[in-house]
Amino acid sequence: MKRKEQSKASRKTAGTKTSGKRAVTLIPGDGVGREVVSAALAVIEATGVGIEWDRQVAGMNAFRRFGTPVPDALIESLKRTRVALKGPLETRVAEGWRSINVHLRRTFDLYANVRPTMNFAGVHTPFNNVDLIVVRENTEDLYAGIEHEIAPGVVESIKVITARASRRIAKFAFEYARAHRRKSVTAIHKANIMKLSDGLFLKCARAVSNNYKEIRYQEQIVDAACMRLVTQPESFDVLLLENLYGDIVSDLCAGLVGGLGLVPGANYGDKGAIFEAVHGTAPDIAGKGVANPIAMILSSAMMLDYLGHRAAGDRIRGATASVLRVGKVLTRDVGGKASTGEVTAAIVRAMSRG
Ligand code: ATP
Repeated sequence: MKRKEQSKASRKTAGTKTSGKRAVTLIPGDGVGREVVSAALAVIEATGVGIEWDRQVAGMNAFRRFGTPVPDALIESLKRTRVALKGPLETRVAEGWRSINVHLRRTFDLYANVRPTMNFAGVHTPFNNVDLIVVRENTEDLYAGIEHEIAPGVVESIKVITARASRRIAKFAFEYARAHRRKSVTAIHKANIMKLSDGLFLKCARAVSNNYKEIRYQEQIVDAACMRLVTQPESFDVLLLENLYGDIVSDLCAGLVGGLGLVPGANYGDKGAIFEAVHGTAPDIAGKGVANPIAMILSSAMMLDYLGHRAAGDRIRGATASVLRVGKVLTRDVGGKASTGEVTAAIVRAMSRG
């Protein structure tokens, strides 16, 4: 019955007539997902860009309805639209299914995770000039999910690094730096210990860097890079990292600029992209209407850029920055008392003024 329901849903998705508007898959997600995705939809609507949303369930919601966290209908929708706006999905710690986020990134070969992290006027932090782009490899490393028990009490997790994936993420980082007039790319590694795997990653990054003479190439060991990030973050520009270091370092960078509620993200492949905030499901605040919608709203601005609506993306970024700068309507993670809905409404109002 569940399978049948699923394939009925997927046939409907595949046959959906488009209205001339760009079709985009919408995944509200788990935890605070629904709240912050609704905020992003309100802001996109205020830009006037027409989007035909193909709403799909994944994660816990899908598991309850279809008995699987990744229904066929979702995969078929993504194959059709190739672009998604996605809320966070729940992944249990040390049990249950493998991360759906990881599954989707690997299924659609969305190899480049980009997380722009910058200071906003009005959000008080120890630093003022943070403007970083985290470029994280998304398809391999310890996320390959190769784990086994070789004897009771002894387990192995395999780290996979390939020249192909390392070269293409390095190329992505340098192309991004060139297109956005960035000055430097820093490859972050632990090649002093993982001489083969991180050594290969570095070798590829060095080779690629030779084709981009106008961009300064630097390397730094991950522990030293963390130290420098929390003392002189303004000395970094584009950060190039493997999957696991990228995950950890991007949360660290979010902390530098005011927290997870402010940092957007995108997962790009050669044929599609999924846009999602860096934060997770935030179960501690889910359903309370207090989640900061800005990370998701800025992720939706990145999506509009990708779809060719750069001016609309800029309007969203400008309005968001002005609401933060004025500082009257802020959620509590950034020092205010406002609800998710109140911040969203303030951003929509600022868009109409701008
Ligand atoms: P998951 O397992 O889904 O990653 P988590 O709680 O481990 O969930 P996050 O969801 O990223 O990780 O949350 C980490 C912390 O940041 C929590 O205290 C959460 O409340 C806070 N946080 C995350 N997102 C937001 C947001 N949008 N607004 C306000 N606080 C947030």
